[in-house]
Amino acid sequence: MTISKILIANRGEIALRVLRACKELGIATVAVHSTADADAMHVRLADESVCIGPPPSRDSYLNIHQIVAACEITGADAVHPGYGFLSENAKFADILDAHGITFIGPTAEHIRLMGDKITAKKTAVELGIPVVPGSAGEVLPENALEIARQIGFPVLIKATAGGGGRGMKVAKTEAELEEAVSTARSEALAAFGNDAVYMEKYLGKPRHIEVQVVGDGAGNAIHLGERDCSLQRRHQKVWEEANSPALNVEQRMKIGQICADAMKKMKYRGAGTIEFLYENGEFYFIEMNTRLQVEHPITEAITGIDLVHEQIRVASGAGLSVTQDEITFSGHAIECRINAEDPRTFVPSPGTITHFHAPGGLGVRVDSGAYAGYKIPPYYDSLIGKLIVHGRTRVECMMRLRRVLDEFVVDGIKTTLPLFQDLVANQDIANGDYDIHWLEDYLARTAP
Ligand code: ADP
Repeated sequence: MTISKILIANRGEIALRVLRACKELGIATVAVHSTADADAMHVRLADESVCIGPPPSRDSYLNIHQIVAACEITGADAVHPGYGFLSENAKFADILDAHGITFIGPTAEHIRLMGDKITAKKTAVELGIPVVPGSAGEVLPENALEIARQIGFPVLIKATAGGGGRGMKVAKTEAELEEAVSTARSEALAAFGNDAVYMEKYLGKPRHIEVQVVGDGAGNAIHLGERDCSLQRRHQKVWEEANSPALNVEQRMKIGQICADAMKKMKYRGAGTIEFLYENGEFYFIEMNTRLQVEHPITEAITGIDLVHEQIRVASGAGLSVTQDEITFSGHAIECRINAEDPRTFVPSPGTITHFHAPGGLGVRVDSGAYAGYKIPPYYDSLIGKLIVHGRTRVECMMRLRRVLDEFVVDGIKTTLPLFQDLVANQDIANGDYDIHWLEDYLARTAP
């Protein structure tokens, strides 16, 4: 089946990024937007655009009826959901299917399977993927103590429907357990409308390492190596790199192969990311994201493979463009997430960008819809762009990043750029010596 017109059900930098891939493939594009995004770059550059509602996401970017109507009006035969919003919504995939519109992503069944974290972990075990030791299923207040004793303290209580680090609480000792379980349950209920929680061994100093996979839906799948996303704040990624400074080639190919084999067994279709914590040489599965990730460009930088092209190819039934043997990993890449936020407190800073100058030169990619005069709407997340830098070695990449950060100008609002200038000059970062707690410790240590 050929895809001739893609509706991009998203906004901001990711809508623009998907649009660029469509144009390269000669596929017509439809942008959708809320009234707050009428002047956005993705709307300006698309072949057609449809306004799908007022600013709040639930009335526009999450409004399935409006998006399906926009497909019907424009004759779009496929939808790319980007990340966030409807990208992991199985019902959306089902509805598109019922309307004969191709969802550029996995099957609804696979989205459901991985969306529930308890089922995802069970599936990972069946597929031969190593997991964090933890409860076999849901944990209730009455059986929490017994399970925690079996796992051994400290333990982490996590929401089954979790995402974005919400509904997650650590209990270091038995005394802290009852409260941790009840807070995690109420946070999970408030955030996801589902209070089910489970329990895991709380790892003290792990790195967050994730493997990129792509499957064709017919039993063929490849891995594109890993990304290290250990620099986090409140469980949210801030800086990502590929490859991980902690792995050697053998470790990379071994965990990559485990993931690719699992995807073959599942007959997984589309791009996905298998997330692990990594400590003392061991990998522990935490979750799988059945979509494109924010940090996918660093994988593209070191492999030369356009992941959105691959997603579109497999959705249209054309299969993967490369085999595992053809994939080579070249050099090192780092991504900095540029948020419209205070670089220390991370308080959002919406407003109008008065001056914007993106850096350039060899090995530099800026994915952003921002421009001078652009007014950042306060309704959505604060990511205004991503800076991706590539070098032949990690040292070259870091030196380039330092140069590029000095060139990048965003005036009129606060951004996280100054934080990256500090990080790129830091010795631990230069050594690649950090874990998931490093950034928060650093921020506390260097607080003014
Ligand atoms: P979410 O879906 O909410 O993002 P994840 O399961 O992906 O949740 O975990 C997010 C982050 O939380 C991880 O990158 C890590 O920093 C921390 N984390 C998750 N599980 C554990 C664990 N068992 N021990 C220590 N930290 C953990």
